[in-house]
Amino acid sequence: MTETSKQDPSTPQLDTAKVRADFPVLQREVRSGVPLVYLDSAATSQKPVQVIQAMDDYYRKHNANIHRGIHTLAEEATASYEGARQKVADFIGGVKAREVVFTRNTTESINLVAYSWGRKNLKAGDVVILTEMEHHSNLVPWQMLAAEIGLQLEFIPVTKEGLLDLDAYRQLLELNPKLIAFMHMSNVLGTINPAKEIISLAHAAGALVLVDGAQSVPHFPVDVKDLDADFLAFSSHKMCGPTGLGVLYAKEALLEAMPPFLGGGDMIKRVQLRSFAANDLPHKFEAGTPSIAEGVGMGAAIDYLNSVGMEAVYAHEKQIIAYALERLEEVPGVWVFGPELEHKGGVASFTFEGVHPHDVAQIVDELGVAVRAGHHCAMPLHEKFDIPATARASFYLYNTEADVDQLIEGLYRVKEIFG
Ligand code: PMP
Repeated sequence: MTETSKQDPSTPQLDTAKVRADFPVLQREVRSGVPLVYLDSAATSQKPVQVIQAMDDYYRKHNANIHRGIHTLAEEATASYEGARQKVADFIGGVKAREVVFTRNTTESINLVAYSWGRKNLKAGDVVILTEMEHHSNLVPWQMLAAEIGLQLEFIPVTKEGLLDLDAYRQLLELNPKLIAFMHMSNVLGTINPAKEIISLAHAAGALVLVDGAQSVPHFPVDVKDLDADFLAFSSHKMCGPTGLGVLYAKEALLEAMPPFLGGGDMIKRVQLRSFAANDLPHKFEAGTPSIAEGVGMGAAIDYLNSVGMEAVYAHEKQIIAYALERLEEVPGVWVFGPELEHKGGVASFTFEGVHPHDVAQIVDELGVAVRAGHHCAMPLHEKFDIPATARASFYLYNTEADVDQLIEGLYRVKEIFG
């Protein structure tokens, strides 16, 4: 037991052995005698057997297209898919199911807002505020829109400690922005941004707010009503669910006033040769056959996370990141980016003096440790810190302190090789 393992008894506990037994991939060896240590959950999480089985069961027994059929299978498939939407609505704080739009991923959710809300409500010269730590998925859609209609993009600076500079933000708000779009938690720095404060300041200045919840919704309780976010985007695949399904939450009145994003089947009520009437929410934004099995899988993922408890997930990750930061500090030449533990979720991005992050990732992989190396879709943030790339260890509910120990052993191996 380390110092960090000793927990406050009031902190919700997670039974790691039980959780790990739910994830089949964690039982595998990367090569003979080398078990997998998966530290890449910020890229995509592993899937518990409950999710795999739900999707298998759907394809074996219930597969049909939804919404349009009257037969039993179509009704069952529709009930499962719409049931998953209700689970998502409950999971993010009890919003209405009609406020939950299924997309392909966080990226598509943000693009939907830029394309539909942005094109309708923004005009040349309007200010949109982003941050310097954004993922490309919350930069490029706004850059594309800016190029098309002439927006003024502004950026909340990141301090050298890896936090958003809120004084600079307050000044930017004097430009009367129309929208603030920011990440709730950074996939590189691990910074958990003060979302509630950012949102209330934005609203006081008359702006709407989009929260990129790709790294927050999977890792700690997010109550979108309490936050009062106008838009929230996240992905199923980072929260124990399948790829191919994303979520866009938006306040009902905003969705009602937004034009459809894609046109086709299912998003209409009535079609004539030269016109159409759009469907009710949320179907207005879901053209064509959706990712049905993936919706079912996402529903199972939410059931799974609820059964563990999001408070317990967060407390567990806090414990693991605390231990990881402590141990990473021991390794000579390792430099961890991002803020102090107090402001940080389960992500540790680091450089290793004199060694390219790709070499780090390759060497620790020999010990079964999966970490990511690169710019993690945040090139401007890496440029700001004047580094081309980092290696990133990211944690989830199934990681243990022993996983961190294996990473550290791998880093000593790097040191041995590179001297
Ligand atoms: N935003 C953040 C903060 C992310 O970490 C990611 C995924 N790395 C995304 C957006 C994009 O998610 P997706 O690829 O599922 O669209």
